[in-house]
Amino acid sequence: MKPDRIRFGDDVPRWLRVQCRRWFRLLLPDDWRLRVELQDADEMAAEHGDGTAAVTISLPTYLDAAIWFADDIQNRDDAWRTVAHELLHSKYQPITDLFRLAWDGRRKMPREDVAAMLADLIEQMIQRDVVVIAKLKGLP
Ligand SMILES: [Zn+2]
Repeated sequence: MKPDRIRFGDDVPRWLRVQCRRWFRLLLPDDWRLRVELQDADEMAAEHGDGTAAVTISLPTYLDAAIWFADDIQNRDDAWRTVAHELLHSKYQPITDLFRLAWDGRRKMPREDVAAMLADLIEQMIQRDVVVIAKLKGLP
């Protein structure tokens, strides 16, 4: 992975950068790009609900994602869960995108076409999971 695949806002703490790099390397393919920023926690709660730790916007077509973490995020042992959770949103975003493409109000794609596209997506996701498992377990 080239280091410039992830860009950080100036105020993103070092420990969070380390976590983002570590989990990005494992969970997303190397051709993705990621931007990481902090957002005021109160502002985030007002926009997305109380207790929101982070928000991800993901554009799988462009292999581009951005994560905003609430600026009160704590460097605790389980902080990785928030980082991994947000990164995995990019993996699953294509399901939401397919739903929007298939039924966007004007158009309604045939059920069998959508089923075939969904089956393809699931195959890709399973393949990606196998890659992650191989990396985690050090298997060929
Ligand atoms: Zn979520």
